[in-house]
Amino acid sequence: MLHTRIKQALRRSLGHTAPLAVRLRARPSLLILTYHRVLPATHPARRTEQPGMYVSPDTLALHLQVLRRHFAIIDLGVWLKRRREGAALPARACCITFDDGWQDNYTYGFPVLAAAQVPATIFLVADFIGSRYRFWPNRLAQLLGVLDADHLADLPDELSAVLAAAGFVAGVPGGMVDIGRIDAVINAAKSLSDETLVQLLDTAEARLGVAADAQSRDLLNADEIMTMRDSGLVAFGSHSRRHQRLLAGINPATLDDELLQSRAIIERVVERPVELFCYPNGDWSVAALALVRRAYLAAVTTVPGWNQPQSDLHLLRRMSVHEDVGADEASFMARVAGLV
Ligand SMILES: [Zn+2]
Repeated sequence: MLHTRIKQALRRSLGHTAPLAVRLRARPSLLILTYHRVLPATHPARRTEQPGMYVSPDTLALHLQVLRRHFAIIDLGVWLKRRREGAALPARACCITFDDGWQDNYTYGFPVLAAAQVPATIFLVADFIGSRYRFWPNRLAQLLGVLDADHLADLPDELSAVLAAAGFVAGVPGGMVDIGRIDAVINAAKSLSDETLVQLLDTAEARLGVAADAQSRDLLNADEIMTMRDSGLVAFGSHSRRHQRLLAGINPATLDDELLQSRAIIERVVERPVELFCYPNGDWSVAALALVRRAYLAAVTTVPGWNQPQSDLHLLRRMSVHEDVGADEASFMARVAGLV
């Protein structure tokens, strides 16, 4: 906790020199920001969401206002087209991206983008569009929120081992409702494959009688996607077919499915060419990168940093921004400038 406060203070103090650091960057440059969810402070989804996954609508509005002072905010596809054609590029361009295709992007993010008339790209997971699919970190957080000492023994062994590795102590009053502690468990769980985690959660949820809210839907549906598309502000890219990590050893058929089929599915939904890809979890193998180069105009990573016109267009860097590193202007600018 103290550590967090020191970091916040550092971020704020560095924020005052950030505008100068931004101005000193090579020109032309391209800053791409990564967002995930847009959740108001009181939204129930925050209880099962990692702090690095969301901003509030007010914070997003503040970011756009601050960015306008330092950058030309443009659509990523437009920047790429201009670069390809050798047209003039803004001295400092900024592009807004959202990963995963969360439903809240429509309910809470889109009104902010529309009010500011700022373009953005949303990276969709093809098979999850309109579905009630839930990502395993949210399911794990929900499970831990209701877990008490009496039911610890009901968990599959591999899941118990993850809790132990993250320093989970049974019988703590209030269980694991503190999302800061859930964050540690989620990070420890990443030692297992997504497939294994989904199976373990299926078992644990069945044993503990944990059920998802039948009414809730985490991800965008086709109507919401089309409304945003029709605004002319929001473009869509592929974030794979089932959010599989594209690691070495993935079989070629799966790779085709994740990279090529995802594009075909999303193109059918949005009725526009899909030319941009976003690597799930920021992972790519040599084979994945080779196929991405053949199939897409450009692709974005989770590697932090800025881009220049000569940067590798299939390994574009991005800065991840969220509430806990960007709730005030100085902290946000420190993050944008790459100072913290
Ligand atoms: Zn993702």
